[in-house]
Amino acid sequence: MIGKGRFKKKNGPVYSVDQMYNGILKRDRSSLARAITLIESNAEQHFSQSQELLERILPHSGKSLRIGITGVPGAGKSTFIEAFGVYLCELGLRVAVLAVDPSSSISGGSILGDKTRMEQLSRHPLAFIRPSPSGGKLGGVHRKTRETMLLCEAAGFDVILVETVGVGQSEAIIRDMVDFFMMLVLTGAGDELQGMKKGIMELIDAAIVNKADGENRPLAIKTKEEYNRILHFLQPATFGWKTKAYTCSALFKEGVEQIWTMLQQFEKTTKDSGIFAERRRIQNKHWLYSLISDQLHFRFFKQSGIKRALPILEEEVMNGKKTVASAVDELFLIERNS
Ligand code: GDP
Repeated sequence: MIGKGRFKKKNGPVYSVDQMYNGILKRDRSSLARAITLIESNAEQHFSQSQELLERILPHSGKSLRIGITGVPGAGKSTFIEAFGVYLCELGLRVAVLAVDPSSSISGGSILGDKTRMEQLSRHPLAFIRPSPSGGKLGGVHRKTRETMLLCEAAGFDVILVETVGVGQSEAIIRDMVDFFMMLVLTGAGDELQGMKKGIMELIDAAIVNKADGENRPLAIKTKEEYNRILHFLQPATFGWKTKAYTCSALFKEGVEQIWTMLQQFEKTTKDSGIFAERRRIQNKHWLYSLISDQLHFRFFKQSGIKRALPILEEEVMNGKKTVASAVDELFLIERNS
């Protein structure tokens, strides 16, 4: 089968799985971009091709440091990624920026990872920026982002930055696909920090108080101390690593170097203790189960018998004529018999 399926990007030449595979290993950007488009496609035949490609890519993946970045809109994520990404590129590292935008599966649009927001980085020859894919029937945005991450690793990227907007569930999804997870925060009063969801604070490996510049600097330092006080009482996200708060100014590129030093310490500590590898093993297990759910969901709803019966049963349930449980039983009976 290998190499038989061919994938054509709109208005582009046809790429076989073989060509994409060889291109990625040669660090060819257009092969990488096409392979990502293949992964993002919701067409069924593209799904099997992309899985074939991934299987071949897998032995060449896994070598990067995967960093998740979250924060409310306006916290400075894109400014930070631009500053941090350029800093890393100047060290000679190859940096890929991916985005997970949970809202895009509903709106179909994409608000993160926008190249126009990271102008300098997007022009850097060592950087690769990919905006958020939209969801779809063959597994959500998170499957596509994970798989894209593997492709980027095989294409030789050393650091992968996964950006998401801080809106509840997306944090847990990102935490489960990265090695290190940081949250960009703004200066704020102690009361606000107290009200911050404990759940999120226990998912992160660092809180970065951004915009620590000009008049805002003293308040940023105070906010950092507040965070450290709270973090001290919480369970750290990574065994053997103390989650702490730091300040930085993404706009003036201050504190970026310190953050990179901290990240390297994290990598060394967790690799020495075995936590790094163990986390990835567990993440793969979670990924397996989430793909099983995605596939079951997809297969169930695509059946013609289900498609026919569902609107009728839905109506009956909505009108109180049937219980939800009996409607579900009926649907599974249809599924078994078809
Ligand atoms: P995002 O929505 O989290 O991606 O935030 P942006 O990176 O778009 O930043 C939101 C606004 O904050 C922009 O006007 C930035 O110029 C500004 N900003 C970002 N980082 C800093 C910083 O370190 N200092 C200051 N003073 N402004 C910043």
